[in-house]
Amino acid sequence: MADNRKVGVLGGGQLGRMLIEAANRLNIQVNILDAAASPAKQISAHNGHIEGSFKDAAAVKQLAQCSDVVTVEIEHVDTQMLEEVAGQVVVEPSWKTLRIIKDKYAQKHYLKEHGVDVADSIDLEGKGSKGLKEVGVTYGFPFMLKSKTEAYDGKGNFVVNGEQDFEGALKTLGSRPLYAERWAEFRMELAVMVVKTKDGVLTFPTVETVHEDSICKLTYAPPRNVSEKTAQRAQDLAKKAIGAFEGKGVFGVEMFLLKDDTLLVNEIAPRPHNSGHYTIEACPISQYDAHLRAILDIPIPQAGLRLREPAIMLNILGGKTPDSHVKVANEALATTTASVHLYGKGDARPGRKMGHLTITAPTLAAAEREIQPLIDFVDNQKG
Ligand code: ADP
Ligand code: MG
Repeated sequence: MADNRKVGVLGGGQLGRMLIEAANRLNIQVNILDAAASPAKQISAHNGHIEGSFKDAAAVKQLAQCSDVVTVEIEHVDTQMLEEVAGQVVVEPSWKTLRIIKDKYAQKHYLKEHGVDVADSIDLEGKGSKGLKEVGVTYGFPFMLKSKTEAYDGKGNFVVNGEQDFEGALKTLGSRPLYAERWAEFRMELAVMVVKTKDGVLTFPTVETVHEDSICKLTYAPPRNVSEKTAQRAQDLAKKAIGAFEGKGVFGVEMFLLKDDTLLVNEIAPRPHNSGHYTIEACPISQYDAHLRAILDIPIPQAGLRLREPAIMLNILGGKTPDSHVKVANEALATTTASVHLYGKGDARPGRKMGHLTITAPTLAAAEREIQPLIDFVDNQKG
């Protein structure tokens, strides 16, 4: 046994599942707090799991009692209870960090205060359509209306193209705590997985992320047509952003590369992230290995975070039929060298993340050639 401490995780989705894959290789027990048969629990047979919601304070307390270190695979959690249990169990990253990051507006404000460039934003809570009008005057159109909390895969964002969109925007998001962001005219989106350990801050390489309908579709490692200097600047910015927060673990940093090569941080995830899935096949130490090692103070050599070979990750989303994602997986298995990951989720709704695949090759161009038929296949299965 590499370590006999038990790790408790709030949330048992695909990120928890892949964290368990890494933990299993080191004989580390991971206790999951989530519904029965959640994706993570399916691959981990022991009696330490807790059945319930990661938003439920009593369940979080129960998880803390049977774990040595508590971490998260989702930031939409009860940080009040994490604060309470932090005296009895190690919580990584810190509940303070989780509390700031789970509110996107607070997160951006915090980053700005720490000298990290982010898009300009305006608080809209309680301001209704009058507030939207003011944003239109200040930022012009389009601007991005965002929910401060509970946002993922674009669910929480609304592009406001003009006054004609106010009604629809408020109908869609009006019941949530809102803020607005200046539109970022980005050339592309970049992301860096950052690892915060007891000794300092390390980074995985910079990758390019391609979103479709506000959901991550593809990740290119290294990014296409980005100079090494810019990739290094993205790593430096990501490092600076995460250096401003307390606690250990991996963090995903999403960034905009603007047309004039300026970099802005879009948002931060205090956990493993979709843009880091490629590390499973492409790096000696994956983001999941790194998260476990960081929260348990197991050494992480920086060389372990390097790209062994260029890689492209393609998300497998729910499509037009309930088995669209299975068809994509089968196509990948039959026609490519892709490593296929299915998450063991139940119903496939259009756009739901059901799995992903990664292709690595000696050059990015070779990986692009190999993955193109699968991208076409996925586009055909779209709901
Ligand atoms: P989520 O939590 O859903 O990932 P994000 O805030 O990251 O929400 O937004 C999802 C996507 O929407 C981004 O990856 C980007 O493509 C686009 N987006 C977000 N904010 C802006 C902005 N201020 N300007 C332009 N595009 C944006
Ligand atoms: Mg995002």
